[in-house]
Amino acid sequence: MTENKPDFCEFCKASRIVRIGKIPTVTGKKQRFQCRECGRTFYGTNN
Ligand SMILES: [Zn+2]
Repeated sequence: MTENKPDFCEFCKASRIVRIGKIPTVTGKKQRFQCRECGRTFYGTNN
C-alpha cells in the first residue's frame, strides 16, 4: 500500500506535513494529513 504524502501543504505550501490517521470511506481508506505550519488538515490523493 502506497501513501501519497503531499510534498507541500495545499494551503500555505509549507513542507512540514504529518500523518494524523486514516478515514474509512466507501471507496477505501483515505490518509489524512496535517500541516505543522498552518494547522489545517487535508487528505492525500489516491490515484
Ligand atoms: Zn499549511
